[in-house]
Amino acid sequence: MVVVGAGQAGLSAAHHLRRAGADFVVLDADDAPGGAWQHRWDSLRLDRANGIADLPGLPLTGDPQERASVAMARYFGEYEAHFDLPVRRPVAVRRVTRTEDGFALDTTAGRWTARGLVNATGTWTRPFWPAYPGRETFRGRQLHAAQYPGAAAFAGQHVLVVGGGISALQLLLEIAEVTRTTWVTRRPPVWRDGDFDPDAGRAAVALVDQRVRAGLPPGSVVSVTGLPVTPDVVRARERGLLDPLPAPSRLTPTGVAWDDPPRTLDVDVVLWATGFRAALDHLAPLHLRAPGGGIAVEGTRVVAEPRLHLTGYGPSASTIGANRAGRTAVRELLATLAA
Ligand code: FAD
Repeated sequence: MVVVGAGQAGLSAAHHLRRAGADFVVLDADDAPGGAWQHRWDSLRLDRANGIADLPGLPLTGDPQERASVAMARYFGEYEAHFDLPVRRPVAVRRVTRTEDGFALDTTAGRWTARGLVNATGTWTRPFWPAYPGRETFRGRQLHAAQYPGAAAFAGQHVLVVGGGISALQLLLEIAEVTRTTWVTRRPPVWRDGDFDPDAGRAAVALVDQRVRAGLPPGSVVSVTGLPVTPDVVRARERGLLDPLPAPSRLTPTGVAWDDPPRTLDVDVVLWATGFRAALDHLAPLHLRAPGGGIAVEGTRVVAEPRLHLTGYGPSASTIGANRAGRTAVRELLATLAA
C-alpha cells in the first residue's frame, strides 16, 4: 500500500495502517516533515490558526505563540519517529497509472507499485490565481498568499488584497499596520460574532461533501465558516480598513479598474489571497474527472476507482477532517483489498 503525502491526512492514514499491521510506505515530496505547514508564513502562529486538531495518538504541545511552521514541522517529525512511520522523502509522485492488480507510481526516485493508494497531497502546491483581464499588463508586483514574505516587505507601497477568506483578512490586518491597503472581495464578507458554531461548521462540511459526491470541484471547508470578529478586527473596522470594494473588472498597468460605475485605483502590489486547488495532477492518467469537473468521491473512496482514496480532499480539507479521513480510508481500503 502507498500513501502519497505526509501532511496531516497522510500521517493519519499512516498511523492507522501501522496499527492494522499493513505493509505500506509514505512518499512525500517535501525535504523535511511538516506537510504544508512548514511553508506557511512566519506570522501564522499556532494561536492565530483556525483550530488545529492533534494527530491521532500523540498530542501537539508547545507555546501557542510559536510559529505554526516551526511547531508543526517539529510535531510531524516527532510523530513520524514516535510511530516509526516509513516516510520516504523527497519523493514526488509524477504519474499514477493502472496495473493489473493496482497502480504504478512514477516518482522522482524511481517506480513504485501498490495494490491500494491513499492520496493525501493537499492543496499548497496549487495556489489559485483567478483569471482577470489585464493581469499580465499590471506593472507592479503580483504575488499569491503562498508567497507572502511578511508585511515589512510592503512598507511604503499601496497593497491591494484580493480575497474574502480568513487568510486574506489576516494578511490585510498585518499589512495595514505598516502601509496603505485596499481590500477587494467577490462577495461581501460574512462576519462571525462570538464563538465558532459547530452546527455551521458541520453544515459547511456537508455542503462540500454533497459537491464531491456529485463529482463537482469541492470548494473550501475552512472558508465557509465566517470571518471571526476579533479585537484586531474591531480596531481595524474603527480605522475604516475593513470596508471591502467589490471585485474590480480588470487590472490596468498601474492598478485596477471598475466599469460600473467607472473608477480606477492605482496600487503597487496585488496580493492574491484567493485560495488553493487540490494537487491531483499526478492522478490525471487515471482519467477520474467527472463531467462536473471534480472527482466523484464517497466518503474518501473514489467512485470510479475503489482502490484509491482521497484524504484531505473536499470535506476532509481541515486538520480534523484529515484525521478522520485517514481512519476511514484505511478501514475501507483494507476491506476492499481483502475482498
Ligand atoms: P498538506 O499539509 O498540504 O500535505 C500534503 C503533503 O503532500 C505535503 O507534505 C507535500 O509535500 C506532499 N505532496 C504533494 N504533492 C505530492 C506529490 N505529487 N508526490 C508526493 N508528495 C506530494 N486547517 C485547520 O484545521 N485549522 C487551521 O487553522 C488551518 N489553517 C490553515 C491555514 C492556511 C494558510 C491554509 C492554506 C490551510 C489551513 N488549514 C487549516 C487547512 C489544513 O492545513 C489542511 O487541510 C490540513 O492540514 C490537511 O493537510 P493535508 O495533509 O491534506 O495536506
